[in-house]
Amino acid sequence: MSSLREVLNQRVRPGELYENIERNRIRCFACGHCCPILEGQAGVCKVRFNQGGTLYVPWGYVGGVQCDPIEKKPFFHAYPGALAYSFGMLGCDLHCSYCQNWVTSQALRDPQAVSPPLSATPNALVADALRQGAKVLVSTYNEPLITAEWAVAVFKEAKAAGLKTAFVSNGNGTPQVLEYLRPWIDFYKVDLKSFDDRHYHQLGGRIGPILDTIRRLHALGIWLEIVTLLIPGFNDSDEELRRLAEFLAGVSPQIPWHVTAFHKDYKMSDPDNTKAEDLMRAAEIGKTAGLRYVYAGNLPGEVGELENTCCEGCGGTLIRRYGYFIEEYRISPNGCCPRCGQVIPGRWGEKFEGQITDHPFIPRFRTNFISIT
Ligand code: SF4
Repeated sequence: MSSLREVLNQRVRPGELYENIERNRIRCFACGHCCPILEGQAGVCKVRFNQGGTLYVPWGYVGGVQCDPIEKKPFFHAYPGALAYSFGMLGCDLHCSYCQNWVTSQALRDPQAVSPPLSATPNALVADALRQGAKVLVSTYNEPLITAEWAVAVFKEAKAAGLKTAFVSNGNGTPQVLEYLRPWIDFYKVDLKSFDDRHYHQLGGRIGPILDTIRRLHALGIWLEIVTLLIPGFNDSDEELRRLAEFLAGVSPQIPWHVTAFHKDYKMSDPDNTKAEDLMRAAEIGKTAGLRYVYAGNLPGEVGELENTCCEGCGGTLIRRYGYFIEEYRISPNGCCPRCGQVIPGRWGEKFEGQITDHPFIPRFRTNFISIT
């Protein structure tokens, strides 16, 4: 029986995000590592490799698909209530010990992470998304930047079918990959894990490319929301949160910032689970820094108004939520507060079309996706 690596090495095609450099090496631009890759070797992510001076990249499979309310991604200012059809491949450029998607992200590093790939085509994914009633196609679960060529192939089909497209990403990008994505992507969620470069080194990255990606996404006009998983004792000091929030507010005070509760996962089992008061403290720091839309997630019903979208002009509640469930929607067809006329930043439909689901589910019709192990 073939190993996972052997199987995945068959599921590749020449990539587009690289250049040839001296001594038959190539430099990959898909993520902020910008790996110089020797002939016969793979990059840090282990899924892109140099063979004969060509960079081969993942193609033609998914590690999993799932339908979620878009609020789970989380996007709170992009078509509230929409169904998001999520797909992912395998591998990651970081190795976070608390990863909640470690079964797919660490599949090539950790023998415990078993996630059999399924054969897929862009057409089949889009058809499946449409059958479920999805409005948005999201590349997530593994780090989508490292499989950007495949995401763009899927997104081209998605946009032709009238769907919106999104990344849920660690944000470890490059100017080249963002330019490459720009024509095909509507929304981008960056998981800003810390504001301390030493913490990013523990996770296998650097903070510089991530902050640069956030600035560039905003400048490119791609709708951007930020999430920070608040881990007690790791990234939750007042000082670190203040610097993080001030950075975001400096890019734009209208970028939504989600602080979400950690629960013990994968190899990180020492910290306590995040409490509601920790989320509320972080949210207060965000508001003091000038951020207008701060949300607290993963503890439904325990964080008061911090699940709701409130008008930055008059303070009125515009969207009331319980977890992923939308209880009330009051944004006007032109994306404004109906009471004071304040423009609310985001991407809004002409009207709220209801919510197909307030919980994740595996799509029922997956006949096109066949296991390839
Ligand atoms: S995606 Fe990132 S980690 Fe992978 S080869 Fe390219 S630069 Fe290296």
